[in-house]
Amino acid sequence: MDLYEHQARQLFEEHGIPVPRAEVADSPQQARGIARRLGGRAVVKAQVKTGGRGKAGGVRFAADPAAAELTARQILGMDIKGHRVRTVLLAEPVDIAEEFYVSYVLDRTAGGFLAIASAQGGMEIEEVAATRPQAVARIPVDRAEGVTSAKAGEIASAAGLPPQTVDVLVRLWQVLVREDALLVEVNPLVRTAQGRILALDGKVTVDDNARFRQARWGARDEEHQDPLEAAAAERGLTYVRLDGQVGVIGNGAGLVMSTLDVVAGCGARPANFLDIGGGASAQVMADGLSVILSDPAVKSVLVNVFGGITACDAVAEGIVAAVDTVRLTKPLVVRLDGNNAARGRAILGERAHPLVEQATTMDGAARRAAELAHTV
Ligand code: GDP
Ligand code: MN
Repeated sequence: MDLYEHQARQLFEEHGIPVPRAEVADSPQQARGIARRLGGRAVVKAQVKTGGRGKAGGVRFAADPAAAELTARQILGMDIKGHRVRTVLLAEPVDIAEEFYVSYVLDRTAGGFLAIASAQGGMEIEEVAATRPQAVARIPVDRAEGVTSAKAGEIASAAGLPPQTVDVLVRLWQVLVREDALLVEVNPLVRTAQGRILALDGKVTVDDNARFRQARWGARDEEHQDPLEAAAAERGLTYVRLDGQVGVIGNGAGLVMSTLDVVAGCGARPANFLDIGGGASAQVMADGLSVILSDPAVKSVLVNVFGGITACDAVAEGIVAAVDTVRLTKPLVVRLDGNNAARGRAILGERAHPLVEQATTMDGAARRAAELAHTV
């Protein structure tokens, strides 16, 4: 889960990393009051979980409280790369002498953490990294050894950062470790005209697997959560949205994954997949179908169940209950095999819903679902 800039800033502050004075507002009037408290002038910054706010017009200077109110009114409600701005951060403006870039990131290919730092920070860092890679230092960090003062000194000198940044580099590593982060980034870390080092912007990505320890950020990420994923999660199901036309329901991760491959092999693309898990009941099947059917991209649905702990007759009863309650509008191809398959097929056969077809093999079912997705 990504944190908002103001949340990252709060963590920096808690770990002794110097940041400018700042407060969050969700209305223009509130922005005006904060600017007054900050001494009149303020940088008004959109709070959205995406980068490049500056270039998108989401970071603007206001010379007095009235201007802060007006600027906040313009930024609140803005759409930045698909993210609606609901709050702004008002920060005390600083005189920038130099902008640096520093981050620690989990590098999955290298299987370890990497310090990335540059003396050419700021809004053009991507450009710098692409055209002058030698201006960006990349130094592996051992998770167990961490970033000591000596290590921070090594990073700073490799990147050409002034020695005053060493303390920030050490503390930033502490943020990563103590806050269960997979990424911490400061861009820009600045040297002010007065010679102070300040973190002017922050990005922190918290490991989702550590949410139980990081409950302060909320149980789920309200900005990023897909509404159908949320609906599925509420019912204890795993649902993932993809970009094709065939809805896929299966039991067990392995079977679901191979079903996706078979659908792709039939020339169609899965629209999503839903794993109803090992102990799927009629209720679970009904819940799953209603989640899948409410996705407008879905043109046909493939239910592929290999009965083990989940008996096929329970799945069939779930399907029958579901087609009666959710009002089926899209064709459903069902393949039941394994535990109680014959009884399951008989239950579906008796119900004889015009939009429900059965197939005996996984390949046959996938082929038929792909065909239906193309014709409806
Ligand atoms: P981003 O574009 O989403 O990364 O937003 P930032 O918070 O990094 O702001 C973008 C740019 O605005 C920074 O790189 C700075 O150059 C500039 N900026 C932000 N705050 C201040 C400030 O207090 N004073 C000055 N002079 N520039 C600022
Ligand atoms: Mn930035």
